[in-house]
Amino acid sequence: MPPDLLRRRFLILLAASSLSALPFSRQALAQQSRPARTASGAPVDGPGKGLKVIVVGAGMAGLTAAVRLAEAGAEVIVLEARDRIGGRIFTDRSLGVPVEHGANFIHGFNGNPVADLSTEAGATPFFIDEEQWQVFERGGTEPEDFEIDDVFDDLERIGEKAVEEADGDPKFSLLDVIDILDPAMLQEPIGNWALTDTYEGEFGAPLAQISALHFDAGEIFGGPDAVLKEGYDTLLDYLADGLDIRLGQTVRSIRHTADSVSVDTAGGVLTADHCIVTVPLGVLKSGAIAFDPPLPQPQQKAIAALGFGRLAKVTVAFDEAFWPREPHFIGYAGETRGRFADMLNLMPIHDAPILTMVASGDYAERVDAMDEAALRADITTVLAEIFGEAARPPKAVARHVWSRDPHAGGAYSFLAVGSEPADYHALAKPASPRLHLAGEHTNADYYGTVHAALLSGERAAEAVLAGRKG
Ligand SMILES: Cc1cc2nc3c(=O)[nH]c(=O)nc-3n(C[C@H](O)[C@H](O)[C@H](O)COP(=O)(O)OP(=O)(O)OC[C@H]3O[C@@H](n4cnc5c(N)ncnc54)[C@H](O)[C@@H]3O)c2cc1C
Repeated sequence: MPPDLLRRRFLILLAASSLSALPFSRQALAQQSRPARTASGAPVDGPGKGLKVIVVGAGMAGLTAAVRLAEAGAEVIVLEARDRIGGRIFTDRSLGVPVEHGANFIHGFNGNPVADLSTEAGATPFFIDEEQWQVFERGGTEPEDFEIDDVFDDLERIGEKAVEEADGDPKFSLLDVIDILDPAMLQEPIGNWALTDTYEGEFGAPLAQISALHFDAGEIFGGPDAVLKEGYDTLLDYLADGLDIRLGQTVRSIRHTADSVSVDTAGGVLTADHCIVTVPLGVLKSGAIAFDPPLPQPQQKAIAALGFGRLAKVTVAFDEAFWPREPHFIGYAGETRGRFADMLNLMPIHDAPILTMVASGDYAERVDAMDEAALRADITTVLAEIFGEAARPPKAVARHVWSRDPHAGGAYSFLAVGSEPADYHALAKPASPRLHLAGEHTNADYYGTVHAALLSGERAAEAVLAGRKG
């Protein structure tokens, strides 16, 4: 998700007032800091001693849950379908520096448990400066500051009036609202850029799919966004140390009774006292895992109703930078909404002539369908539209198509038309005394982020330990 400017404004306003009310403070996290795990992965004693738990999925949610349980003395097995850990945190070093195919930013460093984890893991944050943006139009012209201010003022007004316009109709989308309140915005390149940056890129979905009633639900952490210079996956490696993680184990079905859980993979059936399932919402939607008995009705409703979006992130390397080296972000207000409107500039971060270009909304679907030759041609066209003859064809292109990935099925969850925040709450409740769901799609406050995943893993692990006491 790119850090968006409207959100930035809210952050500045909120930062001072919200810090004391945050659910996780640095101090709270320090108090929970992890006891050293023994070589076998478990301390001698703890509230989980004697419990056997299977965690499905080795992303941020799964590994956080596994660490918490292992530290409490439980015997934990993590089953992961891929041949790597991390899930939607996927760092690629093939271009010579760490680039991120999945999560890129720690969104809001202040009080964010992922920020604390990064400090604990010894990772180096590069802070995104909200002033370091440069937006271009076709032909390389830059809109005046007042034009950008005006368009964000218009967006703020739309945001404030959206719920009123929707008038309680859950089928009302953000596109419907904008069509009523400011249809001209949909025709202007600068308007479309702002809409991409604020909504379509942020939620990973076209305006027509985002709920006008609930798009604004959720919380944010204050402070700057940050990129981890060594790569986001350093956090996963840190968490995974000492855990029993079994790769290449695609879970096909889960049977849960009053006393135990059995989990079926191609490698055989494993049984445990509890199971925490952290597979993405896209996998739950696909029905790739059969639950016996089925998940409770409110969870089935939530899985169907919540949206699971699409973001086409492409990282492109060149022999040398032909764009300005200082800005952290380059925006493109082109004619087609979502067509590589946001680019992360890796010059200031890694001194590398690399751009991570993000396509979103309807255009993300087009990019996902392009083969490499078509993608290279499209990127070259966009960059030539901005930088003219100075633009060069890419030397190398790297991407991961999340929408075609069977272990993800898309980018991240959002409140689609017809869904409501209660759907996130339903997914956070125990599916049964032996079965829990976790993952970003089970956190109503911060859904769609790495910190949502981390917090959901904590919540599920605590529920397993609390259930034992009950
Ligand atoms: C392109 C993109 C950009 C993003 N940008 C940001 C960002 O900048 N900042 C941010 O905070 N968040 C961002 N996110 C969201 C963030 O990556 C996710 O919210 C978070 O990583 C989800 O963690 P998770 O543990 O819930 O799920 P995952 O990381 O998806 O982990 C679930 C695991 O389950 C495994 N699995 C699936 N099916 C099975 C099965 N049948 N059996 C066994 N294992 C299975 C998967 O392989 C995966 O490893 C981005 C996501 C994408 C895709």
